[in-house]
Amino acid sequence: MIQPGTEGLMFTGNEKVWPFREQATPAPRGHKVPRPGDTGGGGLVLDLLAARLAETDAEVRFETGATNLVQDASGAVVGIAWRRFEETGVVRAASVVIAAGGFVMNPDMVAAHTPSLGAKLFTLGSTYDDGLGLRLGRSAGAAWEHMDEAFITAPFYPPGDFVKGIVVNKEGRRFVAEDSYHSRTSYNVMKQTDSAAYLILDSAHMAEPAMPLCPLVDGWETVPEMEAGLGLPPGSLVETPASYNEHAARGEDPDFHKHPRLAGTAGPGAVGRLRPDTRHRALCRLHPRRHGLRRRRPRAH
Ligand SMILES: Cc1cc2nc3c(=O)[nH]c(=O)nc-3n(C[C@H](O)[C@H](O)[C@H](O)COP(=O)(O)OP(=O)(O)OC[C@H]3O[C@@H](n4cnc5c(N)ncnc54)[C@H](O)[C@@H]3O)c2cc1C
Repeated sequence: MIQPGTEGLMFTGNEKVWPFREQATPAPRGHKVPRPGDTGGGGLVLDLLAARLAETDAEVRFETGATNLVQDASGAVVGIAWRRFEETGVVRAASVVIAAGGFVMNPDMVAAHTPSLGAKLFTLGSTYDDGLGLRLGRSAGAAWEHMDEAFITAPFYPPGDFVKGIVVNKEGRRFVAEDSYHSRTSYNVMKQTDSAAYLILDSAHMAEPAMPLCPLVDGWETVPEMEAGLGLPPGSLVETPASYNEHAARGEDPDFHKHPRLAGTAGPGAVGRLRPDTRHRALCRLHPRRHGLRRRRPRAH
């Protein structure tokens, strides 16, 4: 998922996912600050930005929160009110840019717009992802769109070989190409019975899970034993790996179009399962960029 060196552009693996691999010419669309390893790139960028900012005459106010927009009688935004501890004030401005994050840390807004997050998942965001920016925009007549689009994930890879297994729901059926981006897979897990799914691997691809959100639960010698161990309906799981393996042997996946290079085999003889059970263990973050603001007709404040 992340290159160890200082390469700034990367293939993420998403370019292999159907139907996108047929719709776009593969290109390295992933970006990383050219710094070795997984972390530290963000700090490097922010330090550079802060140094550049210090060279300008821009005024920066720390510990200061915008509280509301100021509008004139026609509804035009003419400034913003702010608070810094006990101090308050107003800044007049020809225009105001709202860039105040998402709403994942606001339980009321989560309950209203993405109830599945509040009920089942652990939410993760920045302290001030309280939706105030979105509400400021709406107070000036903007409309909210895509408020129900959450970024949900319980990644089951790395190791990369795990995408060669199959992910099945509580009916023992596949429902997504396993080589999808982990959030795309998790999004589809949420739509299954009890928002639960199982990753099934054969002994050739089994390894100690690296990701804590999908722990290894158990292993079985045969698929029927695994089916019983998982509490799946009798007969439900037997057909799925048999059909998958038959097609995978030819490098095909007619149901979900997994990339031929990533199609592995899953049982009989499956020995392990992972449970990306998003009810209790999912890591979740909301993607504020998806919470777009669209201008509606201006409204008097
Ligand atoms: C754990 C985690 C991992 C992520 N990983 C990735 C990743 O790998 N790749 C990726 O592309 N994205 C990732 N994201 C998403 C990415 O961080 C966000 O999409 C992005 O930061 C959003 O930018 P933003 O400017 O809209 O909001 P933010 O970065 O949230 O910035 C909003 C700012 O506004 C401030 N603010 C809030 N309210 C007020 C107010 N009333 N007055 C004044 N200031 C206010 C906040 O303090 C904050 O500094 C991740 C997010 C999380 C939580």
